[in-house]
Amino acid sequence: MNKVDIQSLVRENVKGLSPYSSARDEYVSDGSEMVFLDANENPFENGVNRYPDPQQRNLKDVLAQQKGVKPKNVLFGNGSDEVLDLIFRAFCEPKDDNIITLPPTYGMYKVLSGINNIKNKEVLLTSEFEPDVEQILSTADANSKLLFLCSPNNPTANSFSRNKITELLNNFNGIVVIDEAYIDFSKEKSWLSKLSIYSNLIVTQTLSKAYGMAGIRLGVCYASEEIIAILNKIKPPYNVNELTQKRALDRVLNLDKVKSEVADILEYRDLLSKALLQLNFVVKVYDTDANFVLAKLDNATERYNQLLKKGIVVRNRTTQPLCENTLRFTVGTKEENQRLIQVLKEIQ
Ligand SMILES: *Cc1c(COP(=O)(O)O)cnc(C)c1O
Repeated sequence: MNKVDIQSLVRENVKGLSPYSSARDEYVSDGSEMVFLDANENPFENGVNRYPDPQQRNLKDVLAQQKGVKPKNVLFGNGSDEVLDLIFRAFCEPKDDNIITLPPTYGMYKVLSGINNIKNKEVLLTSEFEPDVEQILSTADANSKLLFLCSPNNPTANSFSRNKITELLNNFNGIVVIDEAYIDFSKEKSWLSKLSIYSNLIVTQTLSKAYGMAGIRLGVCYASEEIIAILNKIKPPYNVNELTQKRALDRVLNLDKVKSEVADILEYRDLLSKALLQLNFVVKVYDTDANFVLAKLDNATERYNQLLKKGIVVRNRTTQPLCENTLRFTVGTKEENQRLIQVLKEIQ
């Protein structure tokens, strides 16, 4: 239990804001057919001539129910990247505040800290790719507003130890953002069920990976009602467009399909890990809790270029700390993975 005073973390100018109120927010429906002449829209129906629901109520209700939270614990963004940016802008005072990230990890935290002019304090993961709790807590100061834990972590593919995350939730006096972009592939349970225990916890998820909808851009933020209300004050009103809301709703109402695709991906992933291990230039294949495999090779850049020449694009992570000579392989279709393995054998 950590009683962080959330209001004391909020940026001074954000405290005084109230959310933009759109024309459509203000009216109270009495249930009868309404004539909408309030938003200067084109009245001829084509499916998208009206502004989208700024609170995405249909989608939010369904997803909140599936996840066992209240709609007031949910905020959507134009991808998780927008959600993460909103978190920066709500809590971090440019120039004064800082965030803590744990490389090697997802690159957007650093990019967003740069864009928002917030210092990024980096504390390397341990050699087991776990958070170095002691180092993180001694690096934190009164201006450390956000701590980013990506679990399962990109690019290392492991989930962080629950004990270490719990220790950080209990002892970091800012907001702990757990990025669960890969949670649907993980053996570990989501931290969503702990939202009511830790007032300083934000969990982010996305429809870009397991849900197969990277193209519609829908990121999800789960947090206390208090935190969500703060983020809602600075959210652009129509950040999630009508097409995205519709496609996302169709998909979350068809969870069986998502689950069966995830099951296939996990099966292919384990086959891919095994096949990689057989190659003589593969030094190590890391355990994975995500839909990709990180492998250490004899010479990552050379192998990367060989693959590219054969028309296969993977991610070269060799410049990342602790990731020297590693490539990250996303799990593809059965045929794509077979093609990858065949080409890897050819370049042995
Ligand atoms: C892919 C990924 C995301 C997803 O970002 P979107 O903007 O929702 O597509 C978020 N976090 C991590 C760690 C990722 O790897």
